[in-house]
Amino acid sequence: MRKPVRRVWKVLLGLVAVLAVFLSIALTPVPIPERTEFGPSLSELRALAASTGEPLPTEFRRIVVGEGAMPAAAVVAGRFFGMQPLVFQAHQVIYGDGRTVILDAGCDAQTLEANLPGSRLQADNYARLQEAMRRADAIAITHEHFDHSSGIAHSPYFDEIAPHVVMTEEQIHGPQAGLAGFTGDVVSRLKPLRYERMHLLRPGLVLIKAPGHTPGTQLLYVRLADGREFLLVGDIAWHQDNILLPRMHPRLVNWLGGEDGAAMANQLRYLHELRKSTPELNLVVAHDEEQMRGLLQRGLVQDGLR
Ligand SMILES: [Zn+2]
Repeated sequence: MRKPVRRVWKVLLGLVAVLAVFLSIALTPVPIPERTEFGPSLSELRALAASTGEPLPTEFRRIVVGEGAMPAAAVVAGRFFGMQPLVFQAHQVIYGDGRTVILDAGCDAQTLEANLPGSRLQADNYARLQEAMRRADAIAITHEHFDHSSGIAHSPYFDEIAPHVVMTEEQIHGPQAGLAGFTGDVVSRLKPLRYERMHLLRPGLVLIKAPGHTPGTQLLYVRLADGREFLLVGDIAWHQDNILLPRMHPRLVNWLGGEDGAAMANQLRYLHELRKSTPELNLVVAHDEEQMRGLLQRGLVQDGLR
């Protein structure tokens, strides 16, 4: 072989080797550690949830406000083909005296189409969610991404609901909150919540700081009067398999989404162990309709809002 030709081959082989190394990192997940220090124990959560002695909530409901899909390869590392259906849902906690709390606030049609083209808003249900937010005693979210929060920023009743919105400092000022409509004007009308580690939002309802997927991510623990327990994990997992295996999505998704993959790996270990030790604790993965269908079928969650 002539010298210049040999050099071209060497460069090409070098490029292929670099690409192979890049892909082997980008398409594999941050490993889940064997142990984690993350998060409170379930007994701590139960104690805080019941600490005021006031009545715990009696109902846990959900509503679907939209549907979409994303490549399965972006949801669980090692899966390469097909699309994973996504559901956009909000939740309602109801107390015996009729007070309610809304958890996650959905997404308006315009923001959904702009950020996840091809997704479909269920306009009737979105309108029902907006009406439920007007009646709510408090509105909290798992994190500041548009599909969980723009229903607040773009609410037609924003003036009415703003005093009841309980968003953390990190959520209101998160780097992606602007995409969800949290402009300077909107933010100036919200009173940020500041807390460390855990916060009792209402009897039976505990917020747990869990930055990683976004800086403002938090777990929402719900304990009902009859002993039913739920842990809303937001988007720490996009499918329950992320927790059951446990295995995260590929690093490439961490990079594109600005996620802290190491923090999420610890959180997935925490959730995996919680589930293993306490199967009666119902984990709620925000976009996993298959998981929610199981909870609905067992009568643990009711469909539609009141
Ligand atoms: Zn989401």
